[in-house]
Amino acid sequence: MSELRISTKCVQEGYKPGNGEPRVLPIYQSTTFKYDSSAHLGDLFDLKSPGHMYTRISNPTCEFVEEKINALEGGAGAMMTSSGQSAVFAVVMNLCRAGDNFLSSISIYGGTVTLMAAELSRMGIEVRFFDQNAPLSETEKLIDDKTRFIYGETVANPALDVFDIETYASLAHRHDIPLCIDNTFATPYLCRPFEFGADIVVHSTTKYMDGHASQIGGVVIDSGKFNYANGKFPEFTEPNASYHGVVFAEQFGKQAFITKARTLLMRDFGISPSPFNAYLVNMGLETLALRMERHCSNAMKVARYFESRKDVISKVFYPGLDSDPRNALAKKYLRNENGEFIGSCGVISIELAGGREAAVRFMDSLRLAAIVVHVADARTSVLHPASTTHRQLTDEQLTRAGISPGLVRFSVGIENPDDIIADIAQALAK
Ligand SMILES: *Cc1c(COP(=O)(O)O)cnc(C)c1O
Repeated sequence: MSELRISTKCVQEGYKPGNGEPRVLPIYQSTTFKYDSSAHLGDLFDLKSPGHMYTRISNPTCEFVEEKINALEGGAGAMMTSSGQSAVFAVVMNLCRAGDNFLSSISIYGGTVTLMAAELSRMGIEVRFFDQNAPLSETEKLIDDKTRFIYGETVANPALDVFDIETYASLAHRHDIPLCIDNTFATPYLCRPFEFGADIVVHSTTKYMDGHASQIGGVVIDSGKFNYANGKFPEFTEPNASYHGVVFAEQFGKQAFITKARTLLMRDFGISPSPFNAYLVNMGLETLALRMERHCSNAMKVARYFESRKDVISKVFYPGLDSDPRNALAKKYLRNENGEFIGSCGVISIELAGGREAAVRFMDSLRLAAIVVHVADARTSVLHPASTTHRQLTDEQLTRAGISPGLVRFSVGIENPDDIIADIAQALAK
């Protein structure tokens, strides 16, 4: 059989039951696993043979979902984590030690900005933010011999900037460092960053992958193509004392990145997913393709409606619109499985002409769309980033991340689009 298409992989990849086994992915709600001999278990601890020891490190339910996500992204291996935040943290800790630095676009999720700027800097790992729309030569000047990777979001939350993955992948590779992409908003249905040269992908599975706002989770996927044995990443090439001198790059080849992350970071930081949450993500993934089609077509209609209301809305940010400056990049990177451009996910940002007060009044008047600290699930919702998710950012960071005080982030769900638009119309009338 030829390579399966994404919507088929969403349903069929991962758990594949044998004869007489449960048809649906079972939840292995067990912390531990039984072995017949202590020698066998000892081999597991020495990483000499694969197998589950303890759910902090790996678990069968999670592993099946990791296999599905890995197949969707086209990677060499995947590791689920307790949250999107911990997925990003795992990438940084897998590549950097105190004294190292990395480059990140400033146009990213607010929680990731604080993780990088506040917590990681406390550990002696420095983030150097860049403007992804600035000339590449300026960004390149930030790279030195301690730079370990470059980071950006396919479609940025909430500025919706589209990251030029190919360009930044070649910049990273010119300097022998990997490119890591947060693909949360695009999902593998709309974009597979590895196809454009990215080396590592992270997701907050909390968003479209789950799709129902029922669990918090994350995942890291490695393409298996980056050479971590190039001398810049000593923890991949030096013997690891905590596993009897194992050398990750030698022993695990294409799986080196994920194996090191799992056996060191999961073991020591315990940023593990729960099997039940993995089950929920798997359930969500089964309908990812259908939902993304609907999120996109709904968002296109809602964005066009917003555009038609120039009387009250001063700006509409939606890369799916021809009028949006990111439209060309969106058309390059975001395509469904038939190669069609259907939009840039369900998230739209708008600026109300009346500024902060008008934004708050508009949001409070919505009936169908609920005010929640969440995006990218089945239900239409709204959020005011400046006073909520991005509250911790300074005004300068807010401006650099493309967030004005009157900006409203609208997450278009999968309801009937006419109902969503009718709700917006009545709220705008107020
Ligand atoms: C939500 C989000 C995160 C953080 O994920 P959690 O699951 O909430 O920890 C990271 N990146 C992006 C783009 C997000 O939208």
